[in-house]
Amino acid sequence: MPSVSDYKIATIGSHSALQILKGAKDEGFETICICAKGKSKPYESFRVADKIIEIDDFANFFEIEDQLIKENAILIPHGSFVSYIGPQKMKEVKVMHYGTKGILEWESDRVKERKWLLEANCKLPKIFSSPEEIDRPVIIKFHGAHGGKGYFIANSPEDFYESMRQYPNESKYVIQEYIVGVPIYAHFFYSRLNQELEIMSFDKRYESNADSIGRIAARDQLDANIRTSYTITGNIPIVIRESMLPSIFELGESVVNISKKLVGDGLFGPFCLEGIVDPNLNFYVFEISARIVAGTNPFTYGSPYTWLRYNEPMSTGRRIARDIKEAIEQNHLDKVLG
Ligand code: AMP
Repeated sequence: MPSVSDYKIATIGSHSALQILKGAKDEGFETICICAKGKSKPYESFRVADKIIEIDDFANFFEIEDQLIKENAILIPHGSFVSYIGPQKMKEVKVMHYGTKGILEWESDRVKERKWLLEANCKLPKIFSSPEEIDRPVIIKFHGAHGGKGYFIANSPEDFYESMRQYPNESKYVIQEYIVGVPIYAHFFYSRLNQELEIMSFDKRYESNADSIGRIAARDQLDANIRTSYTITGNIPIVIRESMLPSIFELGESVVNISKKLVGDGLFGPFCLEGIVDPNLNFYVFEISARIVAGTNPFTYGSPYTWLRYNEPMSTGRRIARDIKEAIEQNHLDKVLG
């Protein structure tokens, strides 16, 4: 009978690799961490990697791919991996890969992403097709902006043009309604083996300087001429109001169902709906990540929600490994590879 000892779990040393590798070890797999030169310390110190492969640059991933294939490794993609390789090149990955590659194209293209979320009945912030239409607070996001750097807020067309003077080289952007509320990131897991959607956890991001602006008075903010930026520095766990859970389950299920119409067998494994909850408890989704998000990192020992279901520490990383283990044992590895 095939077993976990026939396979290894590999990932790139960044983002959520600690959790992925620890979870894989807890499920009995040997692990491989692919690290950029000089960045392997955490993976050695925390004892999560049985083997470390160093490369000069993650962009050179394909140079070591054969090595992974020889090891019979299953690669777990995460945000950093997708951004280093690019959604197009993801299709060229030959080593066994956990998750549907095709869906990454839908999450990385803002137009496609919007279509998917709207079909799934998500509430989305309004998009303004030209600056002249701005009639309420909006957030301007430049294409390729990373970690929320290079966003700005405007209230009117005049305000927009005034701020744009600081970004003379930017011509590609989206103007999105700014939702006043609290950010909540919902982490899900959907397994093709039991066809069930699970809520894993919730987080909010700890962003610089958005999360520090409230520490000084409005007058001082003006005096210091501070511009809001959303550079992510960490993640904070959240437990949401329980009465919101039914609608969050519904949203997650609907996103999975629609994905099946978009790409082959659809989305499976971990994914995240990133949103803002307004005072009327509307959950406005502004983004979907179709793979593990770093917001699951506070839960290496499980979350309040996974504890309810599993009675043992169940991180999202471990849940992935459990999915793979069950697929191996049921002789259905094809159901978790894509
Ligand atoms: P992102 O890089 O798209 O994850 O966004 C960075 C941060 O900007 C988020 O954590 C939110 O706090 C904020 N944000 C993004 N879009 C909106 C929106 N439409 N309304 C309010 N806040 C937003």
